[in-house]
Amino acid sequence: MRMHTACHLLSVICPFPITGASVNEADSRVDFDLPDANVTKEEVTIRLMELVNGDHPVFTRWISEEELESNPGLVKSKNVRPPRGAGRIRLVCIGEEAVVDSQPCGGTHVASTAEVGEIHIGKIEKKGRENRRFRIRFGSLPAS
Ligand SMILES: [Zn+2]
Repeated sequence: MRMHTACHLLSVICPFPITGASVNEADSRVDFDLPDANVTKEEVTIRLMELVNGDHPVFTRWISEEELESNPGLVKSKNVRPPRGAGRIRLVCIGEEAVVDSQPCGGTHVASTAEVGEIHIGKIEKKGRENRRFRIRFGSLPAS
């Protein structure tokens, strides 16, 4: 839950199309369609921790498929579309009035970003010409 919520926070900081992700207990990766790599793990870690320390509420709300159609920007994943046909979609919101983020998600999350705790970007790897893989880890950024 902590790691999965951390992936939401990373997608706020890196507002690029997500091409893949995998969440594990100790280490998660998120792949972005991001040709320009002028982001550093130090910068991204600082911004992640700002969101964690901001103690923003994480909550869900349901919207209709029509509402989602009229807000296509809500969907960040390039390959995974939220399931259709149920008539409604579960939206995961972060921050009061969802000021930080809102996106369709069926996963489980912590109730507040503070519960994510200390995390850092372990690595930003180049995966092909247009892809960057970000690895999120628990704990503070090791001094290099
Ligand atoms: Zn989620």
